[in-house]
Amino acid sequence: MATSVDPGLLVQLNKYGVEDAATCFNCGNCTAVCTLSSEDTPFPRKVIRYLQIGAEEKLLHAPEPWLCYYCGDCSETCPRDANPGEVMMGLRRYLTARYDWTGISHLFYTSKVFEICAILFVAGLVGTGFYLFHGPIVTDRVALNEFASSHVIEILDLIMLLILSGFLLSNARRMARAVLGDPDQYTRETNAEDDTPAAPEGKKWNGIPVSLYIDELKTLLVNFATQKRFKDCKSKSQDMQWLIHLLIMTGYSTIFILVVVFLRWFQRDEILSFWHPVRLLGYYGTFAILYGTTYAIIGRLQKTKTVYKYSHSSDWAFLILLWLTTFTGILIHFTRLLGMPLSTYYIYVIHMMIAVPMLVLEVPFAKWAHLLYRPLALYLIRVKERALS
Ligand code: SF4
Ligand code: SF4
Repeated sequence: MATSVDPGLLVQLNKYGVEDAATCFNCGNCTAVCTLSSEDTPFPRKVIRYLQIGAEEKLLHAPEPWLCYYCGDCSETCPRDANPGEVMMGLRRYLTARYDWTGISHLFYTSKVFEICAILFVAGLVGTGFYLFHGPIVTDRVALNEFASSHVIEILDLIMLLILSGFLLSNARRMARAVLGDPDQYTRETNAEDDTPAAPEGKKWNGIPVSLYIDELKTLLVNFATQKRFKDCKSKSQDMQWLIHLLIMTGYSTIFILVVVFLRWFQRDEILSFWHPVRLLGYYGTFAILYGTTYAIIGRLQKTKTVYKYSHSSDWAFLILLWLTTFTGILIHFTRLLGMPLSTYYIYVIHMMIAVPMLVLEVPFAKWAHLLYRPLALYLIRVKERALS
């Protein structure tokens, strides 16, 4: 099969944060250093080579960028300062954009103007919605549920969840097709002399029996829930990174579930007792996100670690939106405790004007999507191996 070559690929990738790949002379040191690279799926040298020769199709089919957890060891030891760790990060942005059929991800990653305008546009929609449709403004006590009914917000949350899941899952489907490749490769030749009865074919997707996808679902679920491969990276710098990653992920998931699934218990006008499980979960989620994002922001400002030396504008957008969402959430908590109605309503609107763009743009089209793409890559590799074995 002919391989399509795009001589402008390296220039194109520049916008996604890949800046130094041209200097790589393919020594392979990075692949030798990387403790996550394996004989079957070696990286990062191989994908950097694809980039250099403009092998766009091969890059699109490659799951390797999702197997890198950006410890930075390869960048520190690269003799040409090609920064392979950051190249892998840039490739993840590029692949996220290629999987996305709407084109929003491409614009979000490659245009700062679009990025800022998209955030402001969604924030403006939310602000306008509250201006036009807010409930009664009670001033003698904090009555947040009258100002913004938790039942209405709950319905809007669920609608948003359905729409975002639709975008994310349709993009994940495109990723699966790309990684699994040509369905014909899974059709085995039958040997006329072999009288072993053929296994029942069953229903297939992309040339692979659906039963195999179901059988390997555990790979997807375990890796999604634990991110355990992060721990497999033997780099010393990864222990702290794993903790920060875990704090942000678990904190975010906790708050997300409280807000989307249990909002009627989370957003109440009466103050729950300190030891109430919903309040404790809220405290955990808030602390975990605030600690994780503050650590990452300080790291990116100080640039002391390799992993924080290079920041794409989307990295800043993600961290700042998440930090501000958490900070305004804390302010709401205090204004409620202190019985300040107007401050609570104003900050609540600002909080939503930050939180909604963060969810709408980051989950299906940018940084948050990697939470699905990473375990999905491991799952697809496993399914592919078994289908070809
Ligand atoms: S990125 Fe650096 S270490 Fe890796 S193959 Fe290229 S020159 Fe060698
Ligand atoms: S950054 Fe770390 S995990 Fe990623 S390719 Fe380099 S050595 Fe491997």
